[in-house]
Amino acid sequence: MMQFFEWKLPNDGKFWVKLKEEAQHLHDIGVTSIWIPPAYKADEQQDEGYATYDLFDLGEFNQKNTVRTKYGTKQELIDAITELYKYQISVYLDAVMNHKAGGEYTEKFMAKEVDPNDRLKDVSDAYQIEAWTGYNFPGRNNQYSDFKWHWYHFSGTDWNEANKKKAVYRILGDGKYWSKGVDGENGNYDYLMCNDIDHDHPEVIKELNRWGRWVSNELNLDGFRLDAIKHIEEQFIANFLKDVRSDRGDNFYAVGEYWKGDFDTLEKYIKLTEGKLDLFDVPLHYKMYTASHKGRHFDLTSFPEETLVTKFPVNAVTFVDNHDSQRGSSLESQVDSWFKPLAYGLILLMEKGYPCVFYGDYYGIAGQQSPHRIILDILLDARQKYAFGKQNLYFDHPNTVGFTREGDDIRENSGVAVLLSNGDDGDKEMYVGDHHKGEVWHEITGSITDEITIGDDGKALFKIHGGKLAVWVKK
Ligand code: CA
Repeated sequence: MMQFFEWKLPNDGKFWVKLKEEAQHLHDIGVTSIWIPPAYKADEQQDEGYATYDLFDLGEFNQKNTVRTKYGTKQELIDAITELYKYQISVYLDAVMNHKAGGEYTEKFMAKEVDPNDRLKDVSDAYQIEAWTGYNFPGRNNQYSDFKWHWYHFSGTDWNEANKKKAVYRILGDGKYWSKGVDGENGNYDYLMCNDIDHDHPEVIKELNRWGRWVSNELNLDGFRLDAIKHIEEQFIANFLKDVRSDRGDNFYAVGEYWKGDFDTLEKYIKLTEGKLDLFDVPLHYKMYTASHKGRHFDLTSFPEETLVTKFPVNAVTFVDNHDSQRGSSLESQVDSWFKPLAYGLILLMEKGYPCVFYGDYYGIAGQQSPHRIILDILLDARQKYAFGKQNLYFDHPNTVGFTREGDDIRENSGVAVLLSNGDDGDKEMYVGDHHKGEVWHEITGSITDEITIGDDGKALFKIHGGKLAVWVKK
């Protein structure tokens, strides 16, 4: 998978056109699916799409002073997707369903302020506030949906227009409260930002389910990347997927962003959703982040422990960085440059996990060329040619670890030996399979020029330079 966007793209409306132009190249480098950014109207044109205004406006109507989104028009998006399908590349849309921004008019209703650090604790009496919770979407004029959003479709907001006060407001109503099936951080992490959608409200559930079916048909989507699910009622997510799949088929894909480095929480979520939803392997990302900053003081043998890819490989989307972790973003935890080749070597060549390459690492950030593209091209090529067959792990030394893939019968010359070092130059004896005996292997990242011959026992002593990645294949 490739995450085809980053946070600092120009607001020129030319991104869908670029996506179309890149379709063949993506196919050539082995990308079989892409995650595209929120493609609907946000509160302002330059927004990345996460400050969502109208889910039904895919860059088609004059709303918020613009027809197009930051990325382009609906027609340009459809053209890009049509082109991607020529190359059998699946498309997953980023679905932002936690909140809405950019309300058109204010409404008055009762609310209580809560403690931002403990949302279960009220810090004011109930009183009337005035907030931007009214949505008519006049520019769309009821096309695709005539649903109008009101204050009672939300459970929280953060701005009282009447006294210009910013706070976390819990909206009061008959039986209304924060959703229970959300993360427990800050007491109850239902509220994240803007107008928090009430996923316990029957009208909301119906409307969002309808949108899910509509947009996946309208754009012929293959799946969703579900944004901010730790802030959304888990039962809603489970039923939403059921509903969309009843229309699009059981293979309709979904990966959720549950941003938590804590493995136990993710495990609970996977069990609760019965494995019908993949999750990003955030624990693995944080290990990479920590490893990249600790240098030789990070124990590489700990890599496989308590990660999704080890415990729930079928549900793990492995990644190195994304638009939120990149420098300057909300969840900043960017993996340091020297470690990126090691991190990508791990996720692209190991057997398990659904690896996701970040646009910023391949195409660059803010128009600057990425220094990692060369190594990524090498690794993507290696993934297609060599990374097959049985895997053998050698996570047995704090500063030098490795693994091998023995190759298979279908792909001639397949098989690979991978080493990662965060310390000194080193070597490791690893087994690549009896059938490789006598073969001459070489290293393809350009780090080592020596060649080696696989022994009669199917093993060889593979070399690695300090702080580098080494990828050995048959010459
Ligand atoms: Ca929420």
